[in-house]
Amino acid sequence: MSKIIDGKKTAAEVIENVKALVADLAAKGHAAPGLAVVIVGEDPASQVYVASKSRTAKECGFHSVQHTLSAETSEEKLLELIGELNADSSIHGILVQLPLPGHIDSGKVIQAIAPEKDVDGFTFANVGKLGTGEMQTAFVPCTPAGSMLLIERVRGQDLSGLNAVVIGRSNIVGKPMASLLLEANCTVTIAHSRTKDLPALARTADILVAAVGRPEMVKGDWVKPGATVIDVGINRIAAPEKGEGKTRLVGDVAYQEAASVAGAITPVPGGVGPMTIAMLMANTIVSAYLAAGLARPR
Ligand code: NDP
Repeated sequence: MSKIIDGKKTAAEVIENVKALVADLAAKGHAAPGLAVVIVGEDPASQVYVASKSRTAKECGFHSVQHTLSAETSEEKLLELIGELNADSSIHGILVQLPLPGHIDSGKVIQAIAPEKDVDGFTFANVGKLGTGEMQTAFVPCTPAGSMLLIERVRGQDLSGLNAVVIGRSNIVGKPMASLLLEANCTVTIAHSRTKDLPALARTADILVAAVGRPEMVKGDWVKPGATVIDVGINRIAAPEKGEGKTRLVGDVAYQEAASVAGAITPVPGGVGPMTIAMLMANTIVSAYLAAGLARPR
C-alpha cells in the first residue's frame, strides 16, 4: 500500500508557521496582516468557504474583514469596494469569492485587485510572474501552491528530471500547477479533454496531478508503480449505502485502486483541500512582509 499524504497535518504546520511569522512581524513593530474577503450573493457553498477563510484568518492573528454584499450589487459598486481595499494600508490580501452573480464580469473584478494584494494569484501580473519564474514577488494560486508543498514533502525539494503529468488546464489549478512543476525542473505534460490515450500518458508520470472534476476518472492501471498521485478533485456523489439521499465526497482518482499502485497518494477529503486555505494565509503573510519592506519569509 502507498503512503497516504496527510494534507490536514501539513496544512496545520503551514498555519503554525504563519502564526509564528505574525508574532515576528509584531515584534518588529508592524501591524497585523489584513485579509479582506468579499462575497456577493447567497451561494451556500461560497458562504461555507468564506466563513472558513475568515475563521482561519482570525486564528492566525490577522486583521480579518468580511464584506457580504447582496446578490443585486452592481459591478460598479463592487469595483468601488475593490478600489477602497486597494487603497487601505491595513489590508494586505483581497479575496473575491467566486462565482460572482451573472451580471458581474468576474474577470474585470479580479483584474481590478492590486497585484501586490492579489493573494489568490489570479491577476495578469501574478500569472505573468509565475510564467516567467519571477518567484520572489509572485503570488501563486493557493490550490496548486498547496499541492506543490505536498509533493515536496513526499519527494524532497529536488524534483529535477521527473516526469509530471497534470490532467486539467484551468487557470486556477491545471496551468499554474504545470508552471510550478516546470519551475521545479520536472518534464511536464498537460492533459485535457482532447488528449489522446490519457491512460498511457498518465502511466508515464512520476508525479500525476488530477484536476478534472470527474469522479474517480483516474483508474489504478493509469498509475505508474511508485508514482506520487495528487488528487485535486472534489466531487459530491450519491452514497445510497449511507442511506437514502445521502452523499459523499470523492476525488478525480479511484482511490483504492490507485493507492495499491502509487508510492504516495492524497486522500479526498483530507488531502489537497485543507492546503488551499492554509496557502491563502501563507500568501497573506508574505504580502504583509513585502508591504513592510521585509524579505519574503519562507
Ligand atoms: P475546470 O472545470 O475549470 O477544468 C477541468 C479541466 O479538466 C479542463 O481543463 C478540462 O479539459 C479537463 N477535463 C475535463 N474532462 C476531461 C476528460 N475526460 N479527460 C481529460 N481532461 C478532462 O476545473 P477546475 O480546475 O476548477 O477544478 C478541477 C477539480 O478540482 C474540480 O473537482 C474542483 O472541484 C477541484 N478543485 C479543488 C480545489 C481544492 O481546494 N482542493 C480548488 C479548486 C478546484 P478542457 O480544458 O479541454 O475542457
